[in-house]
Amino acid sequence: MAGWLMPLEEVPDPVFAQRMLGDGVAIDPTEGCLYAPCDGEVTVLQPTGHAITLRAGDGVELLMHIGIDTVQLAGAGFDPQVKVGDRVRAGDVLIRFDLDSVVCGAPSVVTPVLLISQEGLTLAAKHGGGLVAPGDPIFTIQRATAAAESAIDATGETAVRDVLVPLAHGIHARPAAKLREVLVPFAAKVTITKGAQSADARSPVRLMTLGIKLGDTIRITAEGGRADEAAATLAALIESGMGEKADPATPPVPAPAPAPAPVEMPVSSEPGLLAGVTAAPGLAIGTACFFRLPELAIDPVGKGASLERARLEDGIDKVMRAIDADLSHAAGPMRSILAAHRAMLDDPELRAAARAAIVDGASAGHAWRQAVRPQAELLRASGDTHLAERADDMVDLERRVVSAIEGVQDAPLVFPQGTILLADDLLPSQVTALDPAQVRGFCTARGGPTSHVAILAASLGIPALVAMGPALRGIAEGETLILDAGAGTLRVGPDEAQRAEAQARVEARSTALAAARAAAGAQAKLADGTRIEVFANLGSVSDAERAVAAGAEGSGLLRTEFLFLDRETPPSVAEQTAEYQAIADALQGRPLIIRLLDIGGDKPAPYLPIAAEENPALGLRGIRVGLAHPQVLEDQLRAILGVRPIGVAKIMLPMIASVGELRAVRAVLDRLRGELGIGEKVGLGIMVETPAAAATADLLAAEADFLSVGTNDLTQYTLAMDRGNPAVASGIDGLHPAVLRLIADTCRGASARGRWVGVCGGLASDPLAVPILVGLGVTELSATVSMVPEVKALLSTLTLERARAHATAALACATAADVRRLAREFTA
Ligand code: PEP
Ligand code: MG
Repeated sequence: MAGWLMPLEEVPDPVFAQRMLGDGVAIDPTEGCLYAPCDGEVTVLQPTGHAITLRAGDGVELLMHIGIDTVQLAGAGFDPQVKVGDRVRAGDVLIRFDLDSVVCGAPSVVTPVLLISQEGLTLAAKHGGGLVAPGDPIFTIQRATAAAESAIDATGETAVRDVLVPLAHGIHARPAAKLREVLVPFAAKVTITKGAQSADARSPVRLMTLGIKLGDTIRITAEGGRADEAAATLAALIESGMGEKADPATPPVPAPAPAPAPVEMPVSSEPGLLAGVTAAPGLAIGTACFFRLPELAIDPVGKGASLERARLEDGIDKVMRAIDADLSHAAGPMRSILAAHRAMLDDPELRAAARAAIVDGASAGHAWRQAVRPQAELLRASGDTHLAERADDMVDLERRVVSAIEGVQDAPLVFPQGTILLADDLLPSQVTALDPAQVRGFCTARGGPTSHVAILAASLGIPALVAMGPALRGIAEGETLILDAGAGTLRVGPDEAQRAEAQARVEARSTALAAARAAAGAQAKLADGTRIEVFANLGSVSDAERAVAAGAEGSGLLRTEFLFLDRETPPSVAEQTAEYQAIADALQGRPLIIRLLDIGGDKPAPYLPIAAEENPALGLRGIRVGLAHPQVLEDQLRAILGVRPIGVAKIMLPMIASVGELRAVRAVLDRLRGELGIGEKVGLGIMVETPAAAATADLLAAEADFLSVGTNDLTQYTLAMDRGNPAVASGIDGLHPAVLRLIADTCRGASARGRWVGVCGGLASDPLAVPILVGLGVTELSATVSMVPEVKALLSTLTLERARAHATAALACATAADVRRLAREFTA
């Protein structure tokens, strides 16, 4: 083309200027004729005649796009001289066009000439700029390997580094996202090559498809501004291990077999019997149904490139903002997952592919889908568990962006009656949306037993197993399943005898439950008359109503953070008092223990963002947040002191690690009582969730009115196992002898000071744990609402003497499995 040659950066369209479709140059034409720049075959010719793709030898594909947004001209002024399939020679006329009408009708007539094929090809030796005539060379195309051999070229514009990958899981989504981040200050084009395949280092999605593993040698090729520095920075980052360095004892050899499963799954040796980790106990027979949201119907045909491009940008932008909002308060694994989602969404290749589809006439939603799906499929087909998981993330992003583009909201979840739901993972909001009349139980491949999903399942009374691993995906839709969540098993396709046996157990259980429910109104007592209080854990007014109906004698834990989860601003004192009062009223005079906000760790609150922490579970959470934000603490104490009658609402402090924290809160409480003229005593207790609190229970009990063991956190901190991490899920068991010994210490310390000990963590709802807890000296059990009748019925069968002997035996067990075995024999 005759005209002025200019760098791509100056094209007035970011799709071209940011090289989203490929590298190249642009020409501002002075004549209305486009010539073939080399020999080749016409592979694409837009029906509107404004853009053409030529395939030359050696895999080279060139796109020439006359003007910007010229698709809108609908062919007016363009006169192609060739058709798809034609073979052309360098210098042949491809398209004639009316320069004047294009200049008048389109935002710009500048014509990008791009190399769009990527496989091992790079641009070099670009023409310096200025006026060019047809036939002048404008750039040279090189194979990357040829460039690589030249190491750092004479002009310093190309740099090559070979790197041995030390990352235990290779370059998966999160490292890929970090690579992209460190390249931000560099203009150089950076390619990573493994074997015969290359990918743009700024494209996490493409990088993942290279399947780079521990021990692989990869080549980094940087070209353009500060190439050497860019390559060196990237190489140093990868060589540092990026926080995921493999154990040095592991020789960095290429892994011949598929990568090991990332999650330590429970295993079952019996065919047809899958093992999982109990999230909520219970037995159910049902039909397998995979949790899949229906595909969103979209019109594949676009209504004009500029309109569709704007819709695409808008959709991506909306999802990006939603992710940013979540990121501002996310912590731990959730945080890095969100960061990886963000990087995938920002991936230049994905966006370029979607934009290219729009140029080809697709609607924004269809273009995004077309861009994402093939990449997700590649990841799924990689045979690598980590990468296959990322495919799910991409499918998630596909749906979110398409929903945002189309402005649709997901319909309510509906499943056939008798469903046992199978899912990779479920969100807490999805569990809450399940209808127990339709869903008899659920199993997830991921997740942990003390996650909020597990807590919600238990409170809804839906049997659930988590951390089941990829085996779940092998189950056929519609298959009959027996879910024995208490025993941690899922039987697939049972035979008649197994089915009949399970059916008999379901019936016996429902008879026992009906009896327990009928008797739930009675005061909870052991068979020998010993009084044990059975309370319920609450998160809302409706929980309180259900709790009373189930026979709860009060609430041993109101999780106040659940009341105000979705707010952008902190709740006012009046709003809080109103909520607490409504719950106290629903309990009709029964005692209510209100736990102060327990945010941080795995429980974010948008209105109180906590800065990113290296170890959020060991950081600012529980009472530490209140002490760091005195106004938040004071407002909540004031709100509780506003509940009538005074004293019905007691106060409980989460995550106590030392007496000093209790004293600090008591000082504020006493001051507020003085200010409000409250003479009555208002109970102030602590949660025992840290080993420190258990070990100093006597010191704490000297100043606290009561102690309640949060076995979920106490287990996490005692065993040093993250309660939300599926990799350690099978090890997290509150019946571990270490946890039981700490509970025993707590009871001893408290009784020396005449204080009572309750349990409000998951163990209070576990029928195998209840007799042991009572035997250790616990006198209040705050269970999930649905378990209250069962816990009461179970207590009525025990005597304190038997329970004590059983607890002593449990304390002497070596492992959690031994304790569970002993407990099963005890309750059999
Ligand atoms: C616990 O840790 O056991 C507890 C009851 O608190 P949460 O589960 O809300 O952290
Ligand atoms: Mg806790």
